[in-house]
Amino acid sequence: MISLKTTREIALMRDAGRIAAQALALVGEMVKPGVATWELARVAHKHIVKCGATPTFLNYNGFPGSVCVSINHEVIHGIPSKKRVLQVGDIVSVDLGATYKGYVGDTAATFATGKISPAAQLLSDTTKASLYAAIEVALPGGKVGDISAAVQQTCEAQGFSLVRDYTGHGVGRMLHEDPIIPNVGRAGHGAKLRPGMVIAIEPMVNQGRAQTRVLHDKWTVVTRDNKLSAHFEHTIAITNNGPVILTLLED
Ligand code: MG
Repeated sequence: MISLKTTREIALMRDAGRIAAQALALVGEMVKPGVATWELARVAHKHIVKCGATPTFLNYNGFPGSVCVSINHEVIHGIPSKKRVLQVGDIVSVDLGATYKGYVGDTAATFATGKISPAAQLLSDTTKASLYAAIEVALPGGKVGDISAAVQQTCEAQGFSLVRDYTGHGVGRMLHEDPIIPNVGRAGHGAKLRPGMVIAIEPMVNQGRAQTRVLHDKWTVVTRDNKLSAHFEHTIAITNNGPVILTLLED
């Protein structure tokens, strides 16, 4: 069932989203060669707690970290570790959530560690562009498939493939609510977009093939062909005035 949020709830979700965006920005500034992924999680955790929120991912389904840090061929759900140190040329996808006054903000971005290859830069830029292309069509009266198609077309135009094993989702009091927001689909198909819907749009884009597998740590999702993957995500509200990004630093 798709829950529609009131204006008051969306305002609370904007607060949650801002806290998540701030934590993500802090992490982004820390991404440098020599930094352990555990350190990124520590800084995000500290900021979220300081704001009176809780890190949504910590212990979610047993996840053992406050953020997900996924490097290079890791797609999502990488576990922060003191032993995992960033190297020049790595692309680092950081995904995090903040729960504030009972509502969740969910956001992700891929960062560059020092100088990265042109191929990695193109993958990252395209993934981000596909997120914004999707947000533009998240309009009342549209369909979920409009979002999916915008992501898919943007990324496939560059020869990249979309992860199908994981999707975007509704967000609210729960991290994952209905509907699912696939990163592949056909415009004009799927659930209708209505004012009050809040969704996380999150293209997970692979340089090579779409297939993924989960590592023995039971969490880290990697590309089967070991090629690079990038991930960007915003939580957005669908309103009569169009899409509103809730996970931004500034209005
Ligand atoms: Mg999400």
